Amino acid sequence: MKSNEVKLIREDGRRLDGRAFDELRPLKIEVGVLEKCDGSAYVELGKTKVYAAVFGPREVHPKHLALADRAILNCRYHMASFSVDERKPLGMTRREIELSKVIREALESVVFLEEFPRTCIDVYIEVIQADGGTRTAGITAGSLALAEAGIPMIDLVAGVAVGKINGHLVLDISDIEDKYGEADMPVAMAPRLNSIVLLQLNGRLTGEEFKNALELAKKGIMEIYQQQREALRRKYSGISAEEV
Ligand code: ADP
Repeated sequence: MKSNEVKLIREDGRRLDGRAFDELRPLKIEVGVLEKCDGSAYVELGKTKVYAAVFGPREVHPKHLALADRAILNCRYHMASFSVDERKPLGMTRREIELSKVIREALESVVFLEEFPRTCIDVYIEVIQADGGTRTAGITAGSLALAEAGIPMIDLVAGVAVGKINGHLVLDISDIEDKYGEADMPVAMAPRLNSIVLLQLNGRLTGEEFKNALELAKKGIMEIYQQQREALRRKYSGISAEEV
């Protein structure tokens, strides 16, 4: 089916889930949710639910892979078989291998790897439920898990996907908007540095639309960043998300 054949905007000018064009899905962020790792976080954006767990800095195995001047950041993005309608194949798909790489590159740009030579830091991103925007939610969770593990970073990283549906630019696209929309653009930033650490575009945008889409993504990222900082503050003041 062609993208313009599917109505993604209702008669009242809102999106199918009732959101305005520039509105994020309900966002929940928690830090320190898992016990067995050095750092962890949970990010929920509507129906998209993602955990991140961090181990390290720890010894590299086999030892000859260790780098003398910095730590190695390993990243594994994985979608649970039950995270999508049709059971995802077991094992790592090509998509998961690609996403692991782009998430690693986004996180690498803020971590002071040179402070931990000859070690590795492992970041595991587990998508429990997927409804669009899982790579960016994974980056948001991953940077918080690194922070909880005490890994020094120049800034947190937050991400969101913007898109174009029925000719309109929208923030934080859901799976159906991704599938039947005209464009999907995941963006992640280190907000304090105003630096873009991930930018991908699937579909077509004009130059003007691209600029506006980037502005929309920045607006969403600032909202997520604010909540990331609040989640860290809650964690270290011992307040649970339910008490807020
Ligand atoms: P992102 O989740 O970062 O937006 P994609 O654009 O590749 O990444 O995927 C968009 C959405 O498509 C996912 O969030 C998920 O809801 C759905 N999806 C991805 N892979 C599969 C799959 N193997 N089976 C079913 N749905 C999938």
